[in-house]
Amino acid sequence: MTEINQVGVVGAGQMGAGIAQVIAAAGVPVRVSDLNLQAAETGVQTIAKRLQSQVEREKITQAEADAIVQNITPVGSLTELADCDLVIEAASEDITLKLNLFQNLDSVCKPETLLASNTSSISITTIGAATGRPEKVVGIHFFNPVPVMALVEVIRGLATSDDTFNTAKAFTEKLGKNPVACNDKAGFVVNRILIPMLNEACYVLEEGIANVEDIDAAMQLGCAHPMGPLTLADFIGLDTCLAVMEVLHRDLGEDKYRPAPLLRKYVAAGWLGKKSGRGFYDYR
Ligand code: NAD
Repeated sequence: MTEINQVGVVGAGQMGAGIAQVIAAAGVPVRVSDLNLQAAETGVQTIAKRLQSQVEREKITQAEADAIVQNITPVGSLTELADCDLVIEAASEDITLKLNLFQNLDSVCKPETLLASNTSSISITTIGAATGRPEKVVGIHFFNPVPVMALVEVIRGLATSDDTFNTAKAFTEKLGKNPVACNDKAGFVVNRILIPMLNEACYVLEEGIANVEDIDAAMQLGCAHPMGPLTLADFIGLDTCLAVMEVLHRDLGEDKYRPAPLLRKYVAAGWLGKKSGRGFYDYR
């Protein structure tokens, strides 16, 4: 297996920041990049704030929080990830953007670097084929919020080698996560099941069957879900939910995966959920 002593994370949003935090907490140095240095620094500040609130709630000590933050370095370009043993991409869920990023990572990183994507739905085989090292490309799909959720789906693309797959799986175990092995098919396991349910909740709202609060209450009280589907969709990000539905619809080719028009409308309005201040609920 490949030894992982230095990790790069591309994308310092909700997921990238969480991924960087758990890697740093496991004692592995991590560099974080985003569109520019400022965006990467903002991501690291978010991590520091989150850790500080854990110190205030006496969940961790100040020394532990400081050690985690010191293990994370924001960087201004992909070339600064060149000598990483593993790079995990967690940029926006857009296939063109991801294929470009992987082409760039392939050209700047040392030949041994393993390249992973945290994509929710895009084919790992397709991402691998954009590089000259498809055997070193793997899916490492974390769940939100990353420091809290135990599951990681480790996804094998058609060309992913056993060494890459086993290294990725062992690395997630080192982070204290429970990996599940998945083959490369749209949505993998969790999103194939979960996101169509959230999409259906949008149809239920759109068809006037119940209002936002009652749809959420129905699924919480009737199915013992810890949060209602519309709250969860807001939390995931409505743009991410829509992007996943579009991939399921296109790749699996069935009408049952048609994105709800209401979901499209909210995304068009910039109502992306909690991260933008407004989605099915108002967070402002
Ligand atoms: P987000 O919008 O919070 O963050 C995306 C980040 O990517 C932003 O900081 C953005 O500036 C950055 N970015 C955009 N283009 C970039 C580029 N060219 N180079 C570097 N950075 C760039 O989104 P998120 O929720 O963190 O999702 C990121 C990825 O994780 C997506 O692929 C998504 O499908 C996946 N994912 C999301 C969730 C979830 O619940 N939100 C769960 C699992 C996986």
